[in-house]
Amino acid sequence: MKTPAGLLAIGLVSLFLWNPPSAQADETLIIGTASPAGVYHLAGRALCRTIDLPCRAQPSDGSVANLRALRSGELGIALAQSDIHYYAANGREGFQEVGPDPDLRSVFSLHSEPFTLVARREAGIRHLDDLAGRSVNIGNPGSGQRGTMLRLMDARGWTPSSFRLVNELPADQQAMELCHGNIDAMVYTVGHPNDSVAQAIRLCNAVLVDVEGPAIDLLVAAFPFFSRAWIAGGLYAPDQPAVRTFGVRATLVASADTDPEIIYRLVAGVFENFQRFKAYHPAFGTLTAESMIEEGLSAPLHEGALRYYREQGWVADETVTAELAR
Ligand code: GLU
Repeated sequence: MKTPAGLLAIGLVSLFLWNPPSAQADETLIIGTASPAGVYHLAGRALCRTIDLPCRAQPSDGSVANLRALRSGELGIALAQSDIHYYAANGREGFQEVGPDPDLRSVFSLHSEPFTLVARREAGIRHLDDLAGRSVNIGNPGSGQRGTMLRLMDARGWTPSSFRLVNELPADQQAMELCHGNIDAMVYTVGHPNDSVAQAIRLCNAVLVDVEGPAIDLLVAAFPFFSRAWIAGGLYAPDQPAVRTFGVRATLVASADTDPEIIYRLVAGVFENFQRFKAYHPAFGTLTAESMIEEGLSAPLHEGALRYYREQGWVADETVTAELAR
């Protein structure tokens, strides 16, 4: 079994002083999340609270960085957008050069992440098309929003030179850049409500913009991991209208090498304390076990997760056999 570097923290001292009952007893489970400004980090912390093992949520650059870290063995478990999850599993987009990841495993999907376009009110950006010629933060390298934005730009026929300026700031810096007028718009593939969008709207009177049009119709029709999405009206300000856009799901992914017992205990912890887990963030409120094991997953289910789902009768035995054979 490959031992992901940051996953196991077995102190040498404890090896000498105490022989743990199992090789995993002393491990700290590290869940790769994203910027602390988003929902992933809260999700990672909520997951850690449901598992009876030492566990820590670790901020990261986002979905793309997490999937790379899973492949290299730096992480054993992480959060990732369903579009990026698909690209990593199949060796597409940013993962074309490295090819498909045969060791990538799905655990379950979580909340929906609408692709969110936030603009300075004074910039007069009313529609997606108004972004052309503006200064836009497309997200830091390694982030999921950057991956979604690049796909959207491609579908819309845009290149970086279609904008006056392309910034690559991380999620926790973009709202302030918008407030200071250094960028006209920012994008974020994220669950709602979240602090970064709230900051832009409440402190700087920014607006949410609909993301619609033929390019979006095309993306939703062509790719199973994209779907129509919306952001409820009044979520950030009393006068904030509902917004129509498209989106992905957040998913929990692991390496095939991650101990099935740990994944089993994590999955069991979530589903056996499901109401408590869902109460950690409003974006989790509509989750159901059924949608979490059926939607947004492109890699085979992890062995530990599959064991729990089979015990619950949530997956048929034929599915189990087929998944394990992959
Ligand atoms: N979807 C973002 C990413 O993958 C993270 C959003 C969040 O932190 O909630 O980079």
